[in-house]
Amino acid sequence: MVFYQRELETLDRKRLSELRDERLRRLLSEINTNQFYQDKFHAAGIEMNSVRSAEDLKRLPFTTKSELVAEQEAHPPYGRLLTYPLTRYVYLHQTSGTTSNPIKCVETREDWEAWMRCWGYVYRGAGVGEEDLVFCAFSFGPYISHWAAMDGGRHVGALCLSGGGMSSEQRLRQIIANRCTVLVCTPTYALHLAEVATSLGLDLRASSVRTTIHAGEPGASVPSVKGRIEREWGATCFDHAGATEVGAWAFDCQAQTGSIHLNELEFVFEVIDPRTGAAVDEGARGELVVTNLGRFGMPVVRYRTGDLVEVIAEPCSCGRTLTRIKGGVLGRADDMLIVRGVNLYPSVIDNLLRAFAAIVEYEVEIRRIGGMDELRLKLEVSDGELFSGVERAVLAEFRSQLNIRVNVEHAPAGSLPRYEFKARRYKRVEG
Ligand SMILES: [Zn+2]
Repeated sequence: MVFYQRELETLDRKRLSELRDERLRRLLSEINTNQFYQDKFHAAGIEMNSVRSAEDLKRLPFTTKSELVAEQEAHPPYGRLLTYPLTRYVYLHQTSGTTSNPIKCVETREDWEAWMRCWGYVYRGAGVGEEDLVFCAFSFGPYISHWAAMDGGRHVGALCLSGGGMSSEQRLRQIIANRCTVLVCTPTYALHLAEVATSLGLDLRASSVRTTIHAGEPGASVPSVKGRIEREWGATCFDHAGATEVGAWAFDCQAQTGSIHLNELEFVFEVIDPRTGAAVDEGARGELVVTNLGRFGMPVVRYRTGDLVEVIAEPCSCGRTLTRIKGGVLGRADDMLIVRGVNLYPSVIDNLLRAFAAIVEYEVEIRRIGGMDELRLKLEVSDGELFSGVERAVLAEFRSQLNIRVNVEHAPAGSLPRYEFKARRYKRVEG
C-alpha cells in the first residue's frame, strides 16, 4: 500500500479528532478578519473564538453555493469572501457554472499548498509517484481542478503532460507516444477516448497506461462504469471527489473496496438531511457538509456541497483510519428522480446501462407528469448490434432491477453528444 502521509493517515481516531480541532481553531482565528464570515457569525449571535471543536461548529449556520454567488454579485468581483488583501493572492479560477453563475475563487500560495496536499493523497492513494508520467486530458481554461491535477502530479514527483487544446485523437497519440502511465479525466471522457481509439484502430490495452484517476461525476465508483474503463484501458480505475469552492475532499485507495476515503486531515465533514439540515444517523444517506482546514484565503465553513453520500466507519483494509463513503458520491441532492414511486439517482441508471457492452452512448429525457418522472432512453448501439435485441434486454433489466418501466428510442450512430468534461446526459423536457 502506498501512502502520502502514512503516519497521519493511520492515526488513531482520537488523535485524529484532536488534530482536526486544533486545525479548526487555527482556521477560525486566521479568518477572524474575513468580512463575510464575521457578518454571518455575528448575525447568528456567535463569537468566532467560542468555536473550539468540530462539535461546536454545529452551532454555526451553513454556507451555500447560492450565498457565495449572491455575495459576488453584490460585491463584484470576489464578494467580501477574501481573508487577506488581494495582493497576497496568486491564483484565480472559477467554477464551471453548471448549476449557477460561476464563482470566482482566488488562492494564496499557502492555499495552493493545501490543494497540493489534497492531490498528494489522491495520487499516492492510487500508487502514483516519481516513476509515473501523468497525462491530464482536460481543456484547462479557468478550472481549478484541471490545474490542480496537473500541479498535484508534479507535487508527488511524477512527470506531467498537459492535454489542453487538443482533439481526442491528438491526446491519444500523445499518451501512446510519450508512454504515459496515468490518465486523469472525467469517467465519461475516458470512455469517449476509448471509443475514439477503437475507431482509429489503436489498442489502449497495449498502451503504458496502468492507472486512471477520475472525478467530476460519480462514474468511477459506479461498478459497471469502472469495469468498463478498466477493460477498455487495461488499467485500474481510481475515483476521488472535490469541488472548486472546497478542494479535493475524498480519495480512493489501492484496497479498491468500492468506497473512497474522506480526507479528514484537510476537512471537517458532516452529513445532514438535505430537507431539514439536521445531522443524519451514522451510516445514513445524506448531504455532505464540508469545512476546509487548510485554505484560509477564501475559506468555506459548513459548506453544503449538494453531494449525497453514505459514510461507513468500519476500517479499510488499506490501513487508513480515515472514514469512507460507500460508492463515492451517490448523486446530487437535487438530481433525484421519482419514477413510478421509486426514488432513484442517475448513477443507478448509469450503472445499469453501462453494463451493456453494446451501448455506446445514451441520453435520458425526463418528463415530470403529475409529480412523477417518465424516462425516455435514447440509445446508440455499436455497429452490427441489433437494436431490438438491446432494447428488449434493457427493458427487462429496468423491470427486474428497479421495477420500473421506461421508454427506449434508437439514436443513430454518432448522433448523441460526447463530453470532454462533465457529461449532461439527463435532460428535463416539458410536458
Ligand atoms: Zn483504504
